[in-house]
Formats: sequence, C-alpha cells, structure tokens
Amino acid sequence: MSGRPAIGIDLGTCNSCVAVFRDDKVQVIANDCGNYTTPSWVAFTSTTRVVGDAAKDQVATNPVNTVWGVKRLTDNKLSDVNVQSDMKHWPFTLISSNMKPKIEVTYKGENETLYLEQVTAMVLSKLKETAEAHLGTTVMDAVITVPSKFNTCQRQATRDAGTVAGLNVLRIISEPTAAAIAYGLRKKFCEERNVLIFDVGGGYTSVSVVTIGDGTFEVKSTAGDTHLGGEDFDNRLVNHFLQEFKRKYQKDISGHKRARCRLRTACESAKRSLSCSTRASVAIDSLFEDINFYTSITRSQFEELCADLFRGTLRPIENALRDAKMDKAQIYDVILVGGSTRIPKIQNVVQDFFNGKELNKTINPDEAVACGAAVQAATLRGDKSAAVKNVVVLEVTPFSLGIETAGGVMSTIVRRNTTIPNKKTVSYSINQTSIVVAVYEGERAMTKDNNLLGKFELTDIPAPSGATEIEIIFCINPDDVLEVSTVVKSSGEPKKLTISHNKEHLTKEEIDGMIHDLERYKADEERERESVLSKNVLESYCFNMKRAVEENLKHILMVCDDTISWLDVNDHRQKEDYYQKYRQTQEAVDTALMKLL
Ligand code: AMP
Repeated sequence: MSGRPAIGIDLGTCNSCVAVFRDDKVQVIANDCGNYTTPSWVAFTSTTRVVGDAAKDQVATNPVNTVWGVKRLTDNKLSDVNVQSDMKHWPFTLISSNMKPKIEVTYKGENETLYLEQVTAMVLSKLKETAEAHLGTTVMDAVITVPSKFNTCQRQATRDAGTVAGLNVLRIISEPTAAAIAYGLRKKFCEERNVLIFDVGGGYTSVSVVTIGDGTFEVKSTAGDTHLGGEDFDNRLVNHFLQEFKRKYQKDISGHKRARCRLRTACESAKRSLSCSTRASVAIDSLFEDINFYTSITRSQFEELCADLFRGTLRPIENALRDAKMDKAQIYDVILVGGSTRIPKIQNVVQDFFNGKELNKTINPDEAVACGAAVQAATLRGDKSAAVKNVVVLEVTPFSLGIETAGGVMSTIVRRNTTIPNKKTVSYSINQTSIVVAVYEGERAMTKDNNLLGKFELTDIPAPSGATEIEIIFCINPDDVLEVSTVVKSSGEPKKLTISHNKEHLTKEEIDGMIHDLERYKADEERERESVLSKNVLESYCFNMKRAVEENLKHILMVCDDTISWLDVNDHRQKEDYYQKYRQTQEAVDTALMKLL
C-alpha cells in the first residue's frame, strides 16, 4: 500500500474504537490510557476540554458540562419523542437552533453552544490522534461506521464531523457490514454462506443479513432500531433505583443531576456485572444528603425491568429476514456484535428465535466493527495484501428512495434494501411546462412523513399537445452518493439536472468555522497539558528533594549517633583512633550532604 495508512473507526454511542490494517493483519489501537475502546465522551471544565476516559472519569464532579450519548441526536429535532425521552436522562442542556439541537455547556467560565457534529468531531479527532501516536505518522483517510438504519442525513452528519476532525472520509459503512467483514476474513469461506449480524450497542440495534463468499460480502438486507441499546437498559435501572430511593428515604432525587449521574454510573456497572453474576450490588456513599445508598439487584429483576426491550431486539431480526426473503433455517451463523449482546437474556431470546441454534461469539464484540472498517479502508486505498485485495463489499440502501407526486404521495423509485451501486429509471407522463422534482427517503406513503433529501426545478419543458414523457433516473454510486437526473423525452436535446444528496447539509463556511473552533479547543487542551506537565515537574522536584533531605538527614543523624555511642564506650583511646573515627564520620556525613547537591 502506498502512502499513509488508512484507519477504520467504529464511532459508537458509548464507546469508539480505531483499527488499522497493516503488515497483513488488523491491529486494534490502544489509546493513551492503554484501552482499546475510548468513551465517546467530551467534557468542558473551567480550564480545558477533555475527551474519552478523562471526560468519563470526571463526570460525577462536572455532570452538566460532560456530554455523552449524543450520537442518538444525530439529525434529530429537539421535538422528536425519543430525544425528549433521552433529555430526561442527560444532565447537560440542549437548546434548539435553526431547528437543530445544540448542546450548551460552560467552558472556561463562558457559555458555549455546540452542534452535534462538533462534539462528534472531537471524539473522531481523539481517535485520529490515537492512531497517529501508534503509527508515528499523520493519518487522514478513514472509513467510519454508522448504525445500519442511519438515514442519508445522519450519514452525512457523520461525514461532516469527520471532515471537521481533519479526516478524509473514504466511505461511511454500516456497523453490521463491517462486523461481517471482520468475521468473514477469519472464517475464509470458499462457498457462499448467509450470516446474520446481530449488533446491540449502546444506543442502537442493527441487524444485517449478509451473504459471504470468497472475499465477497453482499448485504441482502438490513434493519434496526435507532433507539434500542445499552443506554435504554441503563435508563430502566436508573428509574428502578430512583423509585427505591424514594420509597426508602421519601426523597425524590430524580432532578438532582450529580446524584443521578453517580447512580447511572453505578447502574451501568451493575448491568455489566449481571452478565456474569446473578446478583449485583450498588453501593454509593452519600448519594444524597449524607445518605449511603447500599442496595442490590438480581439478574431476574433486571430481565423483568427490560423484558419488552430485550424482546424488541427480535423485531429487526424478523424484518431483516423478511426483506432478505430468507427463512431462519437458511442462516449459517448468527454473529453477536456490540457490548450489549453480552446480556444473557438477549442471547436467550435470540437463540430461542433461531430454535436453539448456537450463537457465534467468536469475534470481539467491542472491536469487530472497527476491524472490518479498517479492512474496508485498506481495500479502498488499494492495499494489495492477499487478505484484503479481493474484498468486495456490496451494501444496500437502508431506506426506500423516491419522489413526490401529486397530492404529496411518495412514489418509490429505489426500494429499501436494494444493492448499491444501483441505477433505476422511471418514466412519468406530465402535462406541465415546469415541475419540481423533490427527492425523499422513507417508507411512508405520504412524503410529509418521509425525509426530504433535496429538490430541483425543471423548467421550459416543451408542451406538445397531450402529455410529455419524462424519465427520472436515480443513480447511487458505491460511495452511497445519490444522483437524480431527468430526461425530457420530447425535447430534441435531453435535459439533465443532477442533485447530490449531501446538498442540504453543512456549508463550507460552517465546516470551516467548526474546524477553527476545534483547533481552539485543542490549543487550550495542549496549553493545559503543558501546564499540568510543568506543574508535575515542579511538584516531583519538591517531593524528591524533601525525600532526599529526609533520607540523608536521617543517615547523617544515624552516623553522628553511632559515633557518639562509640565515644561512650571508647573513653581512653589513642589520639590516632579518635582522628581516624573523625575522618570516617566526616566522610559519611559529606557523602550524604553531596547527595543533596
Ligand atoms: P458498544 O456500543 O458496542 O461499545 O456497546 C456499549 C454498550 O454495551 C454499553 O451500553 C455498555 O454498557 C454495554 N456493555 C458492555 N459490556 C457489557 C456487559 N458485559 N454486559 C452488559 N452490557 C454491556
């Protein structure tokens, strides 16, 4: 492979992971704390901004300025019911700006508002730095993964965040597809096999049915729930313990941000413990007004609390199988991905659905997605290694695409789960001299319920007597860019207009502004880091000096005490003896004093 390495990034709701394909194998890269996943958390303090483990570690003391879980906000409006429900659990403030949610924090004593893309860019930038520190070179090219049911705007918002972070986003791919690549490369199938990737992470459940051949990965269908993951299970636990606290102490602490944050951290930890134990304790000293909250929860209680959510993970599986036109018996392997698939009850529910079939837990659920993305990045950069050179990945459109026709009706042109790349032409008869071609994404019958991707106007259509035939052509290239063009049949020269689906997103000026802001935060962080380093140097000098003085002083005192004791028992010695003892004592004291200089 020529030039700089390209990385794969799993940008998760809770945790993110970065990997690279090098020397014929995938390497997951550890961050500066030595961890292979980095919390997707960003915190703002009175002096600096921190990202990752450092941000998560300080949440209890700075809950309102610590931002996490916001991937679920991607391209959602504040009025969205799911956002409203999440907001109750977030201690930070969300405001609406130009119909988009913005996060409000206090940074260095001042109020700052940030778009989601900015926070996402901070996490991506941290992963970029992690890779650069490991590889010893600048990294630009990256493949970033998103949940399979991310729509066009959500994918574009992720791409924009990558650009703000200084990355050249080679491609956005679906998380289950990336996991399938990681699995397929290890398995090395000679004949085609259908596998189902079941991915339950922090915020999302994604399912894909993928046919894997010798280096080929053809996604047959994809389905998901953009609001079903570990965060929801944590929320149930938090509510459970808030009620218990109220019952036991007649105090409602749901509005107390610090207490709530500490409870949440304890709940997540208890949830993880319940994956390997049948009971987990929650012990929080002085949770509220000096009340020590010591309690516990059993695995069965947890399963009861989340029963509907766990069952809900089957819906995407059923939808994916239906869209792939496959029966569960045709699935060779069910592959578990994402931290939440460690929950035994979720495994039971899925295993029962597949009539007791053994689930495949052979790939690392936290790292597989980043590994697959790294392979895809290497392939796109033309890596000629035997392991990746023949890798071909064919994804599908997660939603149907179409145009608006009379009365606001959605006329679907490309059905969901159509293989990409794809070209589809549909003819319409019109009797107007101008039309607006409005392109939508979604499954609903009326365009008002779907997602508008962009529109353009077609004017000067020759109006022969009767109807004019116009062709609408939808072309999706391998990079998932949709181009819509029209050809007016009756005109001598075919007219062609093209839109790209990233038209409606951040402008160049907005991206430049965000890049500038990111640099500012980074510079502050670097200044803070240097200041802490210098403070550490001074502090350790003082501690070392104190210790050295104490140790050597102790030694000098001991030498003098020894000599005095010697004198006590050597009352009448020769002059030379006293002189020699004097020399020895002085030498020992001088050596100790020299060590201090
Ligand atoms: P991911 O997005 O794949 O990093 O998944 C993160 C989610 O997995 C978080 O909600 C974690 O709390 C959850 N998780 C990680 N490990 C476990 C575990 N052992 N048991 C239950 N949930 C877990």
